[in-house]
Amino acid sequence: MITIITGGTGSIKLLRGLDLVVNEKINIIVNVGDNINLFGYYICPDIDTTLYGLSNRLDIKRGWGIKGDTFDFLESIKETSEESWFQIGDKDLETHNKRTNLIKNGLNLAEITKIFTEDFKIRHNIIPASNDRIETTIISDDGEMHLQEFWVKNKGKPRILDVRYKGIDSAKPAEDVIQSIKEADKILISPGNPISSISPTIFIKEIKEALQETQSKKILVSPIIQKKSVSGPAGKMLQAKDYDVSVTGLTEYYKDFITDIVIDKTDIGEKKGIENMGKIPHVTNILMRNKEEEAELARELMKI
Ligand code: GDP
Repeated sequence: MITIITGGTGSIKLLRGLDLVVNEKINIIVNVGDNINLFGYYICPDIDTTLYGLSNRLDIKRGWGIKGDTFDFLESIKETSEESWFQIGDKDLETHNKRTNLIKNGLNLAEITKIFTEDFKIRHNIIPASNDRIETTIISDDGEMHLQEFWVKNKGKPRILDVRYKGIDSAKPAEDVIQSIKEADKILISPGNPISSISPTIFIKEIKEALQETQSKKILVSPIIQKKSVSGPAGKMLQAKDYDVSVTGLTEYYKDFITDIVIDKTDIGEKKGIENMGKIPHVTNILMRNKEEEAELARELMKI
């Protein structure tokens, strides 16, 4: 059994590859720190990217939202809403509307995600890390703001001083999360942003303990290639946390959570150093530019 800890745009590439090459049902534990209330809807960007990505609905070029979506709703509120900086498509809105109504009816996020997973005919278990609210915020020289405000509204420009996970100390893992970690033969950590996509999950106390206790392999796929994040602000965030932006820095960041790390061929120079840190490096192509590369990386992971 495979369990994978994921975020959004980078993680879905590997998930698509795994979906192609793995026959069994995978447990996918998804970040909830990006979730946000806007326009009266409860929006879960990483859960939606996972749902859309595994049901062939995702706009792959953008990495988020539904392909072929229109933006009439957004256009109509542009003049009057202070929240129109958030890109929300019309079909996408149906998801947020349905989820928000189900929350009003008393269902929790894990129950709702299960309904969507079935509706979208996805054969895997998509599990939110927690049903409790965890909010990833950026402390910047412009003040503290929600991750989405930093990345979407302010285009990732403010200088990051720190990253916080509000609510994480009291958050409990959603049902099935701990069991899926305990029962897994192999645990994967996707090439998501370590600070904003993976940490809001693995820093939940019970999840951290379960990951530390399990004897299974815990394999990280690096989101860093040649001392840069493939996309997004992972480099900026690692620096803000005083970690080197490199696969060595990543190994240090994840040292309590991983046994193995998969790095790019171009980073082979750092292999020895990783071994000296007591972790097992695996060297292959980790850039996923198309479906073939996604599947190829998934195949490599299945060999570990
Ligand atoms: P977010 O929630 O949209 O930020 O999504 P993730 O955290 O899952 O994905 C962003 C991370 O994925 C970034 O840190 C990227 O460096 C990484 N990433 C994106 N594409 C690739 C890829 O093709 N290969 C690898 N190894 N990492 C990638």
